[in-house]
Order: sequence, then structure tokens, then C-alpha cells
Amino acid sequence: MGLILYPGSFDPLTNGHIDIMRRALERFDELRVVVANNSRKQTLFSAEERVALVRESLANEPRVSVVALDGLLVDYAREVGAKTLLRGLRQVADFEFEFNMAAMNRHLYPEIDTLFMMTGADNFYVSSSLVRSVAALGGDIDRLVPAPVAAALRDRLITSMRDTGTE
Ligand code: ADP
Repeated sequence: MGLILYPGSFDPLTNGHIDIMRRALERFDELRVVVANNSRKQTLFSAEERVALVRESLANEPRVSVVALDGLLVDYAREVGAKTLLRGLRQVADFEFEFNMAAMNRHLYPEIDTLFMMTGADNFYVSSSLVRSVAALGGDIDRLVPAPVAAALRDRLITSMRDTGTE
């Protein structure tokens, strides 16, 4: 099969994201990570930084590309001729939101389908927001995110501690 789009915030990319990406790549030729540049959502990393971290973390995977998107996902999908979206499901709590989102996307673009992949057993508790919280409190995040992300999180925390005068 052809191209699958993987939309999300990726603030930042985690091993949970990478797990379902690798599995999707067993079924699709090409996967494009679409980083939402949603100005209403406060993020730790800018869209450019999030894109760069995905690029760096998946540098050895030629079938993965990454873009930042300001507009509507279905418009982008139409433009590039993609008919499948990838989303991950961790637990029941994810379901309602994802169900509505998939239905809305099909309303806007009837040819699009969302493929849901269940998280791997090792990653069901891994989310970008928990990783940010753990990192902010000095916890070990090395096995939860790829190395470039761990480095960027450390960097960001050192900067914020310097800015707020905490050592
Ligand atoms: P969003 O803000 O759009 O939910 P995220 O970056 O948090 O963006 O997530 C992008 C997609 O990756 C979502 O479908 C989410 O369910 C999925 N995802 C996030 N973490 C994991 C994980 N640990 N295992 C499987 N899927 C995940």
C-alpha cells in the first residue's frame, strides 16, 4: 500500500509513537508524520523543533518524512493524495475523541479512512505529556524517548531553570 499520514502534536516524539510507526511501515510503503502547528495549543517545543526532532530520531528510516501543518488535515491529505490516517489507541479514554475525529474527517473527505493501531504492551502508559512532566521533575526519561528527544528535553529544562533562577 502507498502513503499513510500520521498526524499529531508530537510534543515531543516518544517511543510509543515510534512503535506504531514501525508497525505501520510493515503495511505501507511510505509514512509521513504531520506535525500540527496549532497556535491555540501551548506546546513545549515549537513546530520547527518538533519536526527537527522527528527528522533526527528517524534519520535512518528513508520511508519516513515529516512536515508541519497549519491548515486542515483533510485538505493536506487531498493535496498529497493520501487516503489513510494513522492514529494510536492506548486505552478506552482515547476512544471517544478518536471516534469523533475519524467521523469528522470522513465527513469532510469521504475517501479518507483512519487506521487505529493499538499501542504495544511496553508503551501503553507513554504519552508526551507524562514524559514532559517526568522530565521537568528530573525523572529518567531515557527509555521513553529517542536519544535526540532526551537531549532536547534536558536542554530545555536547563534553559528554563536558568531563566527562572532555579539551579
Ligand atoms: P495529539 O495531540 O493529536 O493526540 P499526540 O502526539 O499526543 O498528538 O499523539 C499522536 C498520535 O499518537 C495519537 O493517535 C496518539 O494516540 C498516538 N500515541 C501517542 N502515544 C502513543 C503510545 N504510547 N502508543 C501508541 N500510540 C500513541
